[in-house]
Amino acid sequence: MSASQSTGGRDNKGPSAQQPELDALIVGAGFSGLYMLYRARDVLGLRARVYETADGVGGTWYWNRYPGARCDSESFYYSFSFSEELEQEWQWTSKYPAQPEILRYLEHVADRFELRPDIQLETRVTRATFDEDSHCWEVRSERAGRVEIIRARFLITAVGCLSAANIPKINGLESFRGDWYHTGGWPEEGVDFSRKRVGLIGTGSTGIQATPVIAAQADQLTVFQRTANFSVPARNAPLVPEEVREIKANYREIRRMARESFGGFPYQGVERSALEVDEAERQAIYEKVWADGGFKFMWGSFNDLLINQEANDTAADFVRGKIREVVKDPRVAALLSPNDHPFGSKRPPIDTDYFETFNRDNVLLVDIKSSPIVEITQTGLRTESAEYELDAIVFATGFDAMTGSLLKMDIRGAHGQRLEDKWEAGPKSYLGLQVAGFPNLFTITGPGSPSVLSNMPVSIEQHVEWISDFIAYLAAKGLTRVEATVEAEEAWVDHVRDVASLTLFPKANSWYLGANIPGKKRVFMPYVGGVLPYRERCDEIARNSYEGFALAP
Ligand code: FAD
Ligand code: NAP
Repeated sequence: MSASQSTGGRDNKGPSAQQPELDALIVGAGFSGLYMLYRARDVLGLRARVYETADGVGGTWYWNRYPGARCDSESFYYSFSFSEELEQEWQWTSKYPAQPEILRYLEHVADRFELRPDIQLETRVTRATFDEDSHCWEVRSERAGRVEIIRARFLITAVGCLSAANIPKINGLESFRGDWYHTGGWPEEGVDFSRKRVGLIGTGSTGIQATPVIAAQADQLTVFQRTANFSVPARNAPLVPEEVREIKANYREIRRMARESFGGFPYQGVERSALEVDEAERQAIYEKVWADGGFKFMWGSFNDLLINQEANDTAADFVRGKIREVVKDPRVAALLSPNDHPFGSKRPPIDTDYFETFNRDNVLLVDIKSSPIVEITQTGLRTESAEYELDAIVFATGFDAMTGSLLKMDIRGAHGQRLEDKWEAGPKSYLGLQVAGFPNLFTITGPGSPSVLSNMPVSIEQHVEWISDFIAYLAAKGLTRVEATVEAEEAWVDHVRDVASLTLFPKANSWYLGANIPGKKRVFMPYVGGVLPYRERCDEIARNSYEGFALAP
């Protein structure tokens, strides 16, 4: 397929106004953007380009270089499946590789598939406007202080669900004389915390990964905790040659299992309730999955932890028991024990020696729920009840998840409607992939898709492949405009909400709901219906000539 066929416009089938320079402009060069470029350019033959703010590829793995950063999906399935050659030639060194290794992998993907010539780095998209006459997006970007405008038939966002850093507005930050960092924008050269008194705010997955590593280097680490979090040991270990051989020999089956699973993990789900076994058996099962480590604690124990409060309480009690076993000071153990949300209703971190770290003499836990932060001073941080002298502050305070980076782009759809206005009461999208009123815009891992509730590369590949198949379909039919209908979008939004309401997820003040961002509307954003049912629904829609979309020449 040639580019001109693909856009339809040059064959005089489409609108006659100014033609686009690109068939597809892709924003973001992480897992999503790299694969989207490969599919658009090398499989569909489109004129495609990626714009990326950073000065390198990798997305999450470019930005998150904080101490202890690593994945929590195992490497052999936290990776692309689309190329068997890539699978066979790449060597993962451990179950949960650290950030530099994952970044190297994504850089290798960019090199191996010769993607770099079509990736424009240090380029931030600052506005995108749909032109109703030409059925194109006019995209404004900034690079080195210069503004560029380019026109593309399709705008495909690959901007990440967890890429807009949340730096809380705390009085006095600008007066702080020490250094401060957000974990999602960590300096490339690293940070040396030796001989420093460090304050770390936030105990999500990031804070939990960073705490033990910073504690081992700094003179003193003070962890400011607003909400105690459940965490399960990762049990990271090197991959030995026999394991690597076995994985490589079984990749097709591993990928099939991941695709056909609920969460994108290549594990057989269990079919038993936590309430159907007696106490002794339940404890034995929890001990086993705790010893195995990682997400198996959730997927490999019982099938009702996320839908039945009583079942969930058994898991929560078990984890709290483990915290009491590990943490020597009972007061600290109590403070570290979550008691205000069900286990798994916030994304459960997996850790290496997190709770153990609070037994160190140089680590202090401060409860900022009972005594909130008042201000940052020139020399540290003050809560309602005490002042802490600090040389450095680490914000492990997460992200404006799922919608943050999309809204920052100032997207304006048909009739000048701004995405920000459309989503004032919370994001609305059909399948998480298209927004009514925003023709020719595709959002990889958008709100309403399973994305963040899954092992993400599995969802990303599915989104990218579905979008590229759709674009190929449009090209084959000579169509230049596609838009989700309001009815289809409303029905999907209702479905996403209804499925979430059957689970315990809405019981937590989590970023899934936008609860971490002051003023953000509380809407449960990801689709919790499962990776396989979602894929089946997307495929069914495609088979039914893309029902729910309005198509035009
Ligand atoms: P990203 O990797 O976030 O890439 C988006 C890119 O878009 C960024 O590079 C950004 O600079 C760019 N961008 C955004 N806005 C603009 C703009 N306006 N103009 C130009 N460029 C723009 N998921 C898992 O499944 N398993 C894990 O183990 C796991 N570990 C994680 C660990 C950390 C520390 C974090 C933060 C997330 C983790 N995730 C994990 C989620 C992770 O984000 C995804 O797995 C995946 O990397 C997302 O890829 P992406 O390409 O969709 O987005
Ligand atoms: P997060 O889960 O949102 O955690 C942020 C932490 O900062 C929470 O403890 C939060 O407290 C606290 N916080 C936020 N704003 C605050 C404020 N104004 N004052 C005080 N405390 C504040 O963010 P994250 O840890 O960066 O993780 C985000 C997601 O990225 C994860 O859920 C996961 O999907 C992914 N991730 C994965 C890994 C991995 O292991 N592979 C590692 C890192 C991140 P509250 O809970 O009270 O809001």
